[in-house]
Amino acid sequence: AREWHLAARPQGWPVPTDFALVEAPVRAPEPGEILVRNAYLSVDPYMRGRMNDVKSYVPPFQLGRPMDGGAVGYVVASAAEGFAPGDAVLHGLGWREYATVAAGRAVKVDPSVPLSAYLGVLGMTGLTAYAGLLEVGGLKEGDKVFVSGAAGAVGSMVGQIAKLKGAALVVGSAGSAEKVDKLVGEYGFDAAFNYKDGPVAEQLAEAAPEGIDLYFDNVGGEHLEAAIGALGVHGRAVLCGAIAQYNDTSAPAAPRNLAMAIGKRLRLEGMLVGDHGALQPQFVAEVGGWLREGRLRNEETVVDGFENTAQAFLDLLRGANTGKMVVRLAG
Ligand code: NDP
Repeated sequence: AREWHLAARPQGWPVPTDFALVEAPVRAPEPGEILVRNAYLSVDPYMRGRMNDVKSYVPPFQLGRPMDGGAVGYVVASAAEGFAPGDAVLHGLGWREYATVAAGRAVKVDPSVPLSAYLGVLGMTGLTAYAGLLEVGGLKEGDKVFVSGAAGAVGSMVGQIAKLKGAALVVGSAGSAEKVDKLVGEYGFDAAFNYKDGPVAEQLAEAAPEGIDLYFDNVGGEHLEAAIGALGVHGRAVLCGAIAQYNDTSAPAAPRNLAMAIGKRLRLEGMLVGDHGALQPQFVAEVGGWLREGRLRNEETVVDGFENTAQAFLDLLRGANTGKMVVRLAG
């Protein structure tokens, strides 16, 4: 079977030659393990950080070793109690066609739901949006909310959940006219703009003339600076991601106006989804309900073919996706 290895550590933007598609034997499960045929692989922005050899909240990928990440698939052989061939499971050994997984690191999922949902709307990115907005951001009815990366996996859910929870205004930014149209026309955002069309601060002021109460940051840099300017007294910002700088080789130029946080008594709080596991049952119940009632749109960009995984990741960093980017493996 095939697996993707990290072949080189990128300087700046990663390129296809940083990845290698490698043939490797499939290891039969030992006691306590299962063998999984992966059906969908997740590609995520945080993987860019793992390509660097730096200590972070997830360890770096090792050169010449298989990469990993979120995956869902079907058990094909089991040496673990509670798992049988045919079971659908979510686990962390993506970037490969077959995974030999410790049963304790796999979670059985309901196969009546399309499995890719467990990587997105009902999975890591969905929980990030839900916990970030409600638990970290403390969204209140009547809040005026701005979210960047708004057409992506996390951002598209943040905007929709904010509306469902009674936000008075939801503004999103994204990187193309098509995405902006979709935010307003399909996801129910009140306003949206293309950050490539002009200064973020100006476009945000136009979309939210009275300012904002809550900013959900997926992007950092100029977006964060604009939000600090637009937040009112006691405003809050959830620092979830900073994708604008993941490929930078020098320190970011913005935000330059951080001192405004003092006078406005802003609260800027970083978050990691891993801290919010306790919210999982409530998240699945509430978001699952919205999905069944047709009140929440789940969008995915599906790339077919295991051999296209690295390119899918590169394309994600350039904004080729709307909603969650996943790779579908041939059955
Ligand atoms: P997305 O689905 O949002 O995909 C990434 C998107 O980022 C692209 O589609 C692109 O859209 C946008 N983008 C790329 N470069 C830039 C740029 N320079 N400026 C603005 N936008 C850019 O990914 P996710 O939803 O999975 O992740 C969103 C953010 O949340 C990321 O920053 C990620 O690291 C973070 N995250 C954090 C977690 C945590 O626990 N803290 C957990 C999960 C995600 P466009 O066309 O609009 O440019």
